[in-house]
Amino acid sequence: MNIILATTNAHKMREIEAILDSFTLYRFSDFISPFEIEENGTSFAQNALIKAQAINDALQRAVCPKPYLVLAEDSGICVEALNGEPGIYSARYAHYKHFHQNLAVKSIKNSTDKENLQCVITMLQDKKLESSKAHFVANVALVGEGVSQHFEGILEGYVITTPKGVQGFGYDPIFIPIQDNPQSLTLAEFSPQKKNLISHRRKALEKCQEYLQGLYSL
Ligand code: IMP
Repeated sequence: MNIILATTNAHKMREIEAILDSFTLYRFSDFISPFEIEENGTSFAQNALIKAQAINDALQRAVCPKPYLVLAEDSGICVEALNGEPGIYSARYAHYKHFHQNLAVKSIKNSTDKENLQCVITMLQDKKLESSKAHFVANVALVGEGVSQHFEGILEGYVITTPKGVQGFGYDPIFIPIQDNPQSLTLAEFSPQKKNLISHRRKALEKCQEYLQGLYSL
């Protein structure tokens, strides 16, 4: 089965391609021009499905390898001391905190990774905290060929206010996973291979892989 990835995030794409290495994967941008998708769901699952369906609809009119399934992913970080924020606003958190009094959420654009990271640090510092329990969530949606499924993965840990490490992306420099991490390294201090062994994305994609293997008896 051909799987078309519905993401333009190069970091996510690399991680997904490394984990699902036994499948034939394509990037949707190989067949159609990327376009803005309004992520107006209220959960990671809804937003993953919105992305997968939007790309699936757009691909109907494109020349691409058939049959195929579209795989989309929505992810983010939930910080306990911030009442679960940034959550589904992880990609646009800095703008969300800055503007959300005045703007409809749908008009809030993504912020840079650096702005988002700094926003979480400042919010924790405002509460006089140096750390907080936190977890990453990845929700993978698979649609097409009569399939519409979700798979979720969670990575437990905590966030700190002093970023460390240069690998990865997003909130990796402030997130310390609790699993298999005796030196308390941030995800940005993990090698890409080691992050891929434990990440929220890996956990969601493993469930997706099992489903696909059952479906096509691979
Ligand atoms: P999405 O593209 O709308 O799913 O936004 C996901 C956002 O969550 C990203 O922009 C990152 O800020 C954050 N995020 C998701 N997964 C990770 C990860 O593995 N490491 C660090 N940040 C992540």
